[in-house]
Amino acid sequence: MTTTISPTGRLSAVHATARPVAMLASVVGEQRHARLMSAARDFRARFAGHTIWTVSSTASGGGVAEMLHALVGYVRDLDLDIRWLVISGDPEFYTVTKHLHHLLHGFPGRLTLGPDSVAHYEDVLAANAQDLLGRVHPGDIVLLHDPQTAGLAPWLTHAGVHVVWRSHIGTDLQNAATWEGWDFLRPYLQHADAYVFSRRAFVPAWLPAERTRIITPSIDPFAPKNQELAPATVRALLAGAGLIDAPVTGPPVYARPDGSTGLIARRATVVAESLPGPDEPLVVQVSRWDPLKDMAGVMRAFAEHVVPYVPGRLVLAGPALVSDDPEGALIRAACVQQWRELPRPVRERIVLASLPVDDVTENAVLVNALQRHAAVVTQKSLAEGFGLTVAEAMWKGRPVVASAVGGIPDQITDGTGVLVPDPSDLAAFGTALCGLLSDPVTREALGMAAHERVRAAFVGDLHLLRYAELLTALRSAVPGG
Ligand code: UDP
Repeated sequence: MTTTISPTGRLSAVHATARPVAMLASVVGEQRHARLMSAARDFRARFAGHTIWTVSSTASGGGVAEMLHALVGYVRDLDLDIRWLVISGDPEFYTVTKHLHHLLHGFPGRLTLGPDSVAHYEDVLAANAQDLLGRVHPGDIVLLHDPQTAGLAPWLTHAGVHVVWRSHIGTDLQNAATWEGWDFLRPYLQHADAYVFSRRAFVPAWLPAERTRIITPSIDPFAPKNQELAPATVRALLAGAGLIDAPVTGPPVYARPDGSTGLIARRATVVAESLPGPDEPLVVQVSRWDPLKDMAGVMRAFAEHVVPYVPGRLVLAGPALVSDDPEGALIRAACVQQWRELPRPVRERIVLASLPVDDVTENAVLVNALQRHAAVVTQKSLAEGFGLTVAEAMWKGRPVVASAVGGIPDQITDGTGVLVPDPSDLAAFGTALCGLLSDPVTREALGMAAHERVRAAFVGDLHLLRYAELLTALRSAVPGG
């Protein structure tokens, strides 16, 4: 393979703080903890002298980065050599990969991926591959995440590395858009040794079934995003960030992963007529400003089908925008415009918030506080690989109303939340919200069941165990491995 080295293409190493696996025992029980420790011992013996590399497109923002901080942190504590690298690319590269992301979710978008897009995608990844090849050794394992990194696969297999491609996205129903996306990626993916998806229905038919595993994502109960916060702390944090109007009775502090105390230092940017009081019931959706998260649809459903019937406010919260997300800026601006066009009494009931992103931990703690403070959490996505925000809210004992798309129905089962079958059915969505807003007993029952569901199925020990099984099988399949 030849390449023009582009100016981009340097990998950056991400430091994930080691997280004590022993802590997980208090959540998942001794038996599950012991199973993980035993798998780790076996893994260490088999892979002695080799490194696990995990390669993604970003160290912050979105579910993949959220999970990698936790999983890499735990693996480090298990005394395995794991390194996390982030690729670099230019805006054109990320426009192509964002488009691929939409295609694999079944949405055609506005771009056409012609030969220029292919060439640029390959150039950027070839440059990243040069850097990566200087670091890896034969027999190492490289986990590549999502379409952004798929083009690294051919380079790595030629270097004698085990390559696993992990897709965090997909849709149950394949269509012209998904075919176009898979056609783009297939030449690279066929070089990988194994494939991981969040759901069986996401797997394209041409991938060899015997080399494909289903591994569901997970949350980390001890991450800043999910750590326990007392109600008084939640109020202090939200008031400190300018998200609710409450007297600040204590310092807005939280625990940082290194054990130090963090203080909310930045305020959210809020579009609202006024801030909610501390006791007003909130419906909250936390998402990236992405068309597939359908913040606009949540706003319409709330304005038309909730505001006339029950009290409470809607908070739509996303990250304050960073310059490399032009689509996010457009989506947020459209939401602000939609909000402005609402009659004032309706606007009074809806808050758009952009959470500061300069400090990843501070951002995570604010999401945590918002989710904990919510009476109901929503995730009205049009497509969703898994939807970590759902598991996050369920872990916090919140009742969730979500569309039954992608990985969401894997999380919300009977009695652990409310699924709306058709994401475009705003009336059904609003009715579900009204029902819960006026029924605290059901909210409590759903929340308790939701918490147990996450403990049983979506805590990181299971995620790591399944990876250990996959990688061990991969090693055994190699002659002399
Ligand atoms: N998130 C965040 N800050 C924000 C918006 C989202 O930390 O302002 C987090 C959210 O809590 C979750 C992740 O980003 O951990 C989103 O993951 P999900 O699987 O829901 O969707 P993705 O963004 O990966 O499509």
